[in-house]
Amino acid sequence: MTAQIIDGKQVAADMRAELKAEVAELKKKEIVPGLAVVLVGEDPASKSYVTAKERACEELGIYSDDNRLAADTSQKDLMALIKKLNKDPKINGILVQLPLPDGLNEAEVLLAIDPAKDVDGFHPVNVGKMVVGEKAFLPCTPHGVIQLLIRNGVKLEGAEVVIVGRSNIVGKPLANMLIQKNATGNATVTVCHTRTRNLAGHTRRADIVIAAAGRPDTVTADMVKDGVVVIDVGVNRVGEKPSKKDPNRMVAILKGDVDFEAVKEKASLITPVPGGVGPMTITMLLYNTVESAKRAAGIDEN
Ligand code: NAP
Repeated sequence: MTAQIIDGKQVAADMRAELKAEVAELKKKEIVPGLAVVLVGEDPASKSYVTAKERACEELGIYSDDNRLAADTSQKDLMALIKKLNKDPKINGILVQLPLPDGLNEAEVLLAIDPAKDVDGFHPVNVGKMVVGEKAFLPCTPHGVIQLLIRNGVKLEGAEVVIVGRSNIVGKPLANMLIQKNATGNATVTVCHTRTRNLAGHTRRADIVIAAAGRPDTVTADMVKDGVVVIDVGVNRVGEKPSKKDPNRMVAILKGDVDFEAVKEKASLITPVPGGVGPMTITMLLYNTVESAKRAAGIDEN
């Protein structure tokens, strides 16, 4: 069996088209969703993520408030900015790009964000609501994984799902979402990590394997059964190559956590890296921003 490739770019484009139409409808009611992005310092990867987020907002008609601060910004000034954004009625979502430079207290900053504007879904209030199955902002990458699955017709109810990785931003929230008693849950979930004995013993019985370990070739062909669905969250920089657009510029060679070439011969569906989970993360951030604007305006259909 050769797998059908899950096209994350296409699913993200479909969702962005839906969101763009929704934003246009909201604008007729004089509601303009607004996202504030806070970037401290000059980290090149963070700068390019933030630029991508700002461009995506523009494409959808979401108001984007760009806050780029010097690396030596004090904790006090950063906290004052968060407080200002919490009160700003034009802002429905606040995103603080992580990691923050050394010397800044990340936990204190994230805790200061109004949970009603926490579109990253990292605030303990949103994490708690997610766990007990109340309406919450769902963290973007795991929510993007679930959208990829359901929009490709994968049945989650009763499925045996094995997640490799237990981080707070991917593995743990994903496991929580997948066991919820709702239409995007009802799966049976096993979460594996570096202390798991016999990882392959778990992955081999899975209907769906989700790899979020941050290590190339964590999942190989001998570790999965025929017909498995594989979602590869991993992004590993394994080298550099000249850019297609500008051969004088070097770009990273990216690889996931799954041995894609071999596993695709056994899987029924598989995500590539890049072009799988990656495009979904920003899309789900935009989704949460639009949700937040609707809640602030008292429009709550879900
Ligand atoms: P993380 O915080 O480093 O967590 C990695 C998890 O994988 C840990 O729980 C670790 O176990 C487990 N693990 C590592 N090697 C393992 C192995 N050989 N066998 C079993 N478990 C293993 O990473 P993260 O932030 O969750 O990110 C995971 C990957 O996803 C990274 O490559 C990251 O770049 C990527 N990512 C992509 C997106 C996207 O938008 N596409 C978003 C977020 C993350 P222990 O807990 O025991 O250490």
